[in-house]
Amino acid sequence: MKNIILIAAPAAGKGTLSELLVEKYGYVHISTGDLLRDASREESELGQKISNMLKNGELVTDEIVFQLLENRLRKDDILNGYILDGFPRTINQAYKYDEIVNKLNKDLGIVVCLQTEYDTLRKRIVGRMLCSDCGSIYNTLTGVNTPKVENICDKCGGSLYKRSDDNEESFKTRYETYLEKTKPLINYYQEKGNLYFINSDSKETMLKEIEVLLHD
Ligand code: AMP
Repeated sequence: MKNIILIAAPAAGKGTLSELLVEKYGYVHISTGDLLRDASREESELGQKISNMLKNGELVTDEIVFQLLENRLRKDDILNGYILDGFPRTINQAYKYDEIVNKLNKDLGIVVCLQTEYDTLRKRIVGRMLCSDCGSIYNTLTGVNTPKVENICDKCGGSLYKRSDDNEESFKTRYETYLEKTKPLINYYQEKGNLYFINSDSKETMLKEIEVLLHD
C-alpha cells in the first residue's frame, strides 16, 4: 500500500479519512497531534511544556515532534503502509521528513491535500466532541454526526468531551498557522510531483476520491 501524507487545514477531515482507510485497508494511522497529546499527559516537565503549547494552539517545537515521530516510524507495525496525519506542518519539517524517510528506508508515498470551505472548518472545530472511551467523533453544530443523546457516545455509551484546543480562538490561531506555515508545502510537493487534491466536504466524496488515487 502507498504511504499517505495528509495536508489539511484544521478539521478538514484528516482524522475521519484516516479512520476510513484504517477500517477498509488496514492502514496504520500516525497522528503527531495524538503522539503529542499522549506525551502531554506524562507527569514530567516535558509533558507540562507540551500541554501548554497544545492549549494555546501553537506548533510544538520541531525537536520534540521529530523525536516522537522517528520513534513511531521505527515500529514494525507500519510496514504495510501508514497515513501521516499532522506532519509535516512546515517546510522545515518537510525537509526533515525527507531525511527521516531516507534514513529509515521508507517510501515517501503520495501527498493528499484535503479541501473544504472555511466556515465548515470553523463549525467542525467549535462543535467537535470526542468519546472518552472509543474515540468516535461527533459534532453539535454541523448537523452531521450529532450525538443522539447529549454528551453520550451513540456507539459505546462513553461520555463525550471537548479537546482543550477546540474553541473559536484557538481555531483562528490554528487556521492562520495553517495558511502561513503549512500551505506552502503544497508547492513543495507539487514540484516533487506527488501531490493530489481531494474534496473533503463529506466522508463519501473523500473515500471515493482517495480510492481513485490508491488504485492508480
Ligand atoms: P492535530 O491533532 O493535528 O490538529 O494537532 C493538534 C496540535 O498538536 C496542533 O495544534 C499543534 O499544537 C500540535 N502539533 C501536531 N502536529 C504537529 C507538528 N507536526 N508540528 C508541531 N506541532 C504539531
